[in-house]
Amino acid sequence: ILYKIKGYIMIILTKLPFTEDALEPFISAETIQYHYGKHHTAYVNKLNEIIAGTEYENMSLCAIIKGLQGAVFNNAAQVINHTFYWHSLYASTSLPNGGLLEKINNDFGSVDNMKEEFIKAGTTLFGSGWVWLVREPNGQLTLKQTSNADIPMNSNLLPLWVCDVWEHAYYIDYKNARANYLEGFWNHINWDFARDIYEKNHDNNHDHYCQLMDELQDTVTN
Ligand code: MN
Repeated sequence: ILYKIKGYIMIILTKLPFTEDALEPFISAETIQYHYGKHHTAYVNKLNEIIAGTEYENMSLCAIIKGLQGAVFNNAAQVINHTFYWHSLYASTSLPNGGLLEKINNDFGSVDNMKEEFIKAGTTLFGSGWVWLVREPNGQLTLKQTSNADIPMNSNLLPLWVCDVWEHAYYIDYKNARANYLEGFWNHINWDFARDIYEKNHDNNHDHYCQLMDELQDTVTN
């Protein structure tokens, strides 16, 4: 949604798709208060501060990050990554279904194999970053690690869900036991959200993911 008021667009903090305590005990309300209320919010505020008066101030988030590096990229990509992360989560336990389930069984061997690969990808990611389920340009589903703010759309991959593996995502609830957080994440993946992206996008054109992200991202114009 684009709200145009006085000519320039402000990036705003998207609403959470669930209440603060909806993910307990997997993720506490306290973690959400910091992760969403402080970290995600800070990326939004910083981005607005550094794009004010520049060529980026009238662009959508996806347009901003294309081909960029540095502070503008880092903050804009982190805004997108967090919005996508919140939508990747589901309060109840769910399982892959429909055509996506068949594809997982085909490409990973089984859902259990995929889970094992996911836990491995999450525990071996060095430093801060993200683990993504993506569709490769050749159609295959794979798990991808990215570092810091990096986002897979710049490598022509279509993301279906993402797990935040920065310490701020789990440290309050799990301290250094990252694998326990990853186990919890696995049980709270929003498989319907992933299946919708998978089924609605028949190629890996960046514009599809961009359009989705810009739809999820509420923006307001001043
Ligand atoms: Mn985070």
